[in-house]
Amino acid sequence: MSRFIDRVVLHVSAGKGGNGCSSVHREKFKPLGGPDGGNGGQGGGVIFVVDSNVHTLLDFHFNSHAKASNGTQGMGGNREGSNGEDLILKVPDGTVVLDKDGRILADMIGEGTRYAAAPGGRGGLGNAALASKARRAPGFALLGEEGIERDVVLELKSVADIGLVGFPSAGKSSLVSVLSAAKPKIADYPFTTLVPNLGVVSSGDTTYTVADVPGLIPGASEGKGLGLEFLRHLERTAVLAHVVDCATLDPGRDPVSDVDALEAELAAYKPAMLGDASLGDLADRPRIVVLNKADIPEAAELAEMVTPEFEARGWPVYTISTVTREGLKPLIFALAKMVEDYRVAHPPAEKRRPVLRPVARNEEGFQVIKDPDVEGGFIVLGTRPERWVRQTQFSNDEAVGYLADRLARLGVEDALIKKGAQPGASVTIGDVSFDWEPQTPAGVEITMTGRGTDARLDQVERIGADERKHARRARRGLDLEE
Ligand code: GDP
Ligand code: MG
Repeated sequence: MSRFIDRVVLHVSAGKGGNGCSSVHREKFKPLGGPDGGNGGQGGGVIFVVDSNVHTLLDFHFNSHAKASNGTQGMGGNREGSNGEDLILKVPDGTVVLDKDGRILADMIGEGTRYAAAPGGRGGLGNAALASKARRAPGFALLGEEGIERDVVLELKSVADIGLVGFPSAGKSSLVSVLSAAKPKIADYPFTTLVPNLGVVSSGDTTYTVADVPGLIPGASEGKGLGLEFLRHLERTAVLAHVVDCATLDPGRDPVSDVDALEAELAAYKPAMLGDASLGDLADRPRIVVLNKADIPEAAELAEMVTPEFEARGWPVYTISTVTREGLKPLIFALAKMVEDYRVAHPPAEKRRPVLRPVARNEEGFQVIKDPDVEGGFIVLGTRPERWVRQTQFSNDEAVGYLADRLARLGVEDALIKKGAQPGASVTIGDVSFDWEPQTPAGVEITMTGRGTDARLDQVERIGADERKHARRARRGLDLEE
C-alpha cells in the first residue's frame, strides 16, 4: 500500500568531553603532595526515543540542528568535570533513522525504543587517574574528545489522520495549505500527475496530518479515474472531512447533493475489494463537514441554510474561508479533538517487527596499511589508536611518551615492523602524522633491532624530540592547549 513519507534531514552533534586536569596537590610544609587533577566530564549524546504522544516529525522541520551540551574540564583537588546533558529527541513510533547514503541505522519501533545517534565525547583522564607505580606524578592529562557530529535522515511512513474529500475545486488543496504548519516532502507516491497534498497541523499538544485526496469523484468506486487507489488511501485515516464548495455555479450542484454523491462512493467502496478487510468500512469513519468559500456572501448564506441538514446527520459542521481564514481556528481544534479520540480508541497494535541496530564496530583491533600518498609511509587505522591520538596534548613531552607506550602495548609498533616500516617512515594515525622512531619496549619480542635502540635507556623519551616537531595537527579535531 502506498503511503506518504514524511522526511527530514537533521544535523546532530554530541557534546565534547571535558579535558582532564593536570595538577599537583599543595599544602603547607608538604609541597609535593601527589597528582590530584580530576577527569573531564563526558559530553552529552543525542538520543532518539520513541514516544507514543508524538505522531509526526513536525518539530524537526523547524529545528534541523540538535546539539547536546559539553562536559566540563576536570579541576585540581580531584574534582571531576560535570557531564554534558544528553539531548533526548522524541520521535513517533515507526520512525526510521538513516544515514546520508540511505543506510538504515535504526528502525524505531515500540514505546521507549532508544537510539544514540551521536554519542558524546569521552572526558579526558586527569593526571591523578593516570598515575601508576611506574609513573607516580604524571605531568600531563588527556584531552577530552570531540562529540560525534553528523547528518541523519528521519523518515516516517504515515497515512494522513484527516482525509479531505470533495469535488474538484472545492478548496481541498487551499485548506491543506492554510492549515499546515509544515508541508512534508511526499515521497513514494505512485501517481506522478495527481499527487496528494499533505500538511502537518499543530494544535496545542496535538499534531496531526491532513491530506487532500484528489480524484475522489462520482464513479470512483467503479474504478473511474484513479478513484480506487485514492479510496484505498483513505482506509487508514482517522477522520473524513467533506470539503464543500458553497459558491459553485454548476447547475444541478448544491452542498447537500455534492456530499451525497461522495457518500455514495464511500459506501460502495469495500476495503475487501483491495484485499484488506481488517480496517472496516469507510462508512464507519467519523465525518466532519467543512463549508468553504464563506467570504462570498451568497456562499455564506447557502452555508447557513444547509448547516441544519448536515447536523441532523450527527456531523459537526464548520463554515470557513481559506481566503480570509475565517472559521479556521475552531476547525483546527475540532479536528484535533477527533484525532485524539480516534487515537485513544485505536491504540497502536502489538509490535512484532525486529529493531535493527547498527552493527557494533570492532573496538579492539587496529590495522596498518600503506599510505597511498606518502612513499614508504603507513596509516594506522583503529578506534583505539585514533582515540588515543585525539586525547594527546602534543605540546607535552610526557603526554606524547604516554601515547607511545599505549601504542606499543597494543602492538602497533610490532605491526609496523612486520609491515617493513623503516625508521623515519611517516606514520599517520587519525589527524596526526609523525616520523616513526622504532622502540623496543621491555617485554616486547624484538623482531628487528632497528638502530640499536635500547628500551632500558629510553624509558622516558619514546618519540624523539625532533620527530615530535613534525607532529602535525590537521584542520580539525585537535584543539591543542599550548
Ligand atoms: P481543490 O481542487 O479542492 O484542491 O481546490 P483548490 O484548493 O485548488 O481551489 C480551487 C479554487 O477555489 C481556487 O481557485 C481557489 O483559489 C478557490 N478557493 C479555495 N478556497 C476558497 C475560499 O475560501 N474562497 C474563495 N473565494 N475561493 C476559494
Ligand atoms: Mg487540489
